[in-house]
Amino acid sequence: MPSPLGHLLAGLSVGIAADPSPQPTSRPPADRATRFALTCAVLAAAPDLDLAVPHALIDHFHRTATHSLTAVALVFIVSLVVTGKVTAGSGRLRQALVFSGAWGTHLLMDWLGADPSVPSGIQLFWPFSPDFYMSGVTIFPAIERNIQRSHFLVQNATAAVVEVAVGVPLVLLANWVSARRARPAEEAQS
Ligand SMILES: [Zn+2]
Repeated sequence: MPSPLGHLLAGLSVGIAADPSPQPTSRPPADRATRFALTCAVLAAAPDLDLAVPHALIDHFHRTATHSLTAVALVFIVSLVVTGKVTAGSGRLRQALVFSGAWGTHLLMDWLGADPSVPSGIQLFWPFSPDFYMSGVTIFPAIERNIQRSHFLVQNATAAVVEVAVGVPLVLLANWVSARRARPAEEAQS
């Protein structure tokens, strides 16, 4: 499964491609778009914060609740409430959809990644089903978290190269999409 690097790049792509529609604010649009894209990047990496939960507290918490469609729905609801305090109208719904979509990229990437752990995969339908799901198509190599292992450096460097090879073109594509969308609006203003 990808490292935070791959997840951050995927979230960044979503945030750039779907940068927010102009909203009444004193903050310059470029600054707002950057903050929006960075928020998406953080949300895309956030599900792996479940690694911080001690085994003594909850056994096998990683790749369960935070890696489920329930979590995606929760992010949508929380985003809708939080963005409602700062954003009005249809922009509120759009931002909530994009934020939950950014979280969802994490699930998609893990689903497409190698996972040597047992059980492998993600508990996509937590808490309704205990089953773990994998696509069977491996795009992203597994990450070795044990620094004591001899293949730690090689394996993680290989994984990082694959994640950059997939993620950077996605970010560039998102930039292109964003620039194309902005062009008619700029032409209309001039
Ligand atoms: Zn994960």
